[in-house]
Amino acid sequence: MRILVSGASVAGPVLAYWLTRHGFEVTVVERAPCLRKTGGHAVDLFRPAMNISEKMGVLPRIEERATGTSRMVIHPEGARRPVRVDLSKIFGATSDRHVEIMRDDLSEIYYDAARDDVEYLFGDSITAISPGGEVRFENAAPRRFDLVVGADGLHSNVRRLVFGDESRFSAFAGAYLGVLTLPGASGLDGELHMHVGVGRTAGVYGARHLGDARALFLFRSERELDHHHRDVSRQKKLLQGAFAGMHADVDRWLDEVDRTPAFYFDSITQLRMDTWSRGRVTLVGDAGYCPGPAVGGSTSLAVVGAYVLAGELARAGGDHERAFPAYERAMAEPVRGSRTAALSAAKTLIPTSRLGVRGLAQGARLISALPAGPGRALLRLTTKSARLHNSMTVEDYPPPPTAPGGRAGDPEGPPRGRARDGVRSAADRRN
Ligand SMILES: Cc1cc2nc3c(=O)[nH]c(=O)nc-3n(C[C@H](O)[C@H](O)[C@H](O)COP(=O)(O)OP(=O)(O)OC[C@H]3O[C@@H](n4cnc5c(N)ncnc54)[C@H](O)[C@@H]3O)c2cc1C
Repeated sequence: MRILVSGASVAGPVLAYWLTRHGFEVTVVERAPCLRKTGGHAVDLFRPAMNISEKMGVLPRIEERATGTSRMVIHPEGARRPVRVDLSKIFGATSDRHVEIMRDDLSEIYYDAARDDVEYLFGDSITAISPGGEVRFENAAPRRFDLVVGADGLHSNVRRLVFGDESRFSAFAGAYLGVLTLPGASGLDGELHMHVGVGRTAGVYGARHLGDARALFLFRSERELDHHHRDVSRQKKLLQGAFAGMHADVDRWLDEVDRTPAFYFDSITQLRMDTWSRGRVTLVGDAGYCPGPAVGGSTSLAVVGAYVLAGELARAGGDHERAFPAYERAMAEPVRGSRTAALSAAKTLIPTSRLGVRGLAQGARLISALPAGPGRALLRLTTKSARLHNSMTVEDYPPPPTAPGGRAGDPEGPPRGRARDGVRSAADRRN
């Protein structure tokens, strides 16, 4: 049974890994010419995603590549002294297992886990999918697949082709997000520096092994701003306008806006769809249920979604009419929870009042100062996302024994090429 996955970031490679482990034949098409290696931004893996990564045998590599950010210095706008916070206590309180890692490192680790068993088509994109599974590409010749999965992010191409325009499913969360790459990370030494004011928050962080740093900007806007997604110079102006006069540090970061090798600007948007599946097509990760970039733990959700989708397809023997609804049922609660948690996190991270600014700084200081037990209890009481990350449970979908056998969903078909040769997959060899 042949499955096409669009997107090779987080959800795509995790899905590809588990599908091949369950015996499916997988092709991944990625628009970028190669795997992105610029770092991207820092993302979080919480307990369920850590457990899945452990089953994949990649947890040591993930831990080795962790950003190493362990302290936060909060500068409330207008305050004389900053607040220093031990981040390990905050993370320890929100989840019993957590790693922060640059997205591109994570993507490479997941890609490596099954690269020998998956066909990757870089520098290409799907242009049409027929109800029968005929797929057309920008470059490659048309081919037929039994199933197609969109793992191509918040602005998913597969979703647009199958479900229609994004505006039908996206809900503006009242805030914007910008990221710049800054030269040199010296002086950060495992510290995240944040300036927090009413309706705006700016921060800078590095990663142990990257020679540069990332500046992250979050700001509120009651209405959606008038700009085209390709009009980068207008986006830069909007960002500069939103942070004008905040602090000399922030001015310095923004001085790099015209020189930065990587600039990202987008609204914080939640996707809300009644269903992620239509016919032979389904969506996974941000493409189907992004709770909002930078505020919603969406990376963990993408990993969990990919694992569950592969597991349900295997359980149903490749019958998508049973597997897709089961996948949607299993993910409904975590997705709903992460949406609520994201809105609450956005409120905390980008305070709407002076009280909120003081509350964020004092709350962080208190949790950091308390011993682990009370700190954890306090955070459980005050943050929805802590409850969510700690309570998300994922069923176990054990892959079949690695003995040679038929392909999943194709009991009559010939044994899978690599298995027939008795060669275990790279992932199997690692486990
Ligand atoms: C600035 C920023 C900060 C973030 N911070 C955090 C954070 O702190 N914590 C956290 O957990 N998450 C964070 N996120 C969200 C996180 O990056 C995503 O949730 C996660 O990467 C989702 O993975 P995904 O694979 O579903 O989608 P994506 O990572 O968006 O990947 C989509 C992939 O599809 C590819 N693609 C796009 N179009 C096509 C096409 N037409 N054809 C083929 N391929 C295509 C893209 O090139 C990309 O490789 C942040 C996101 C952003 C933008």
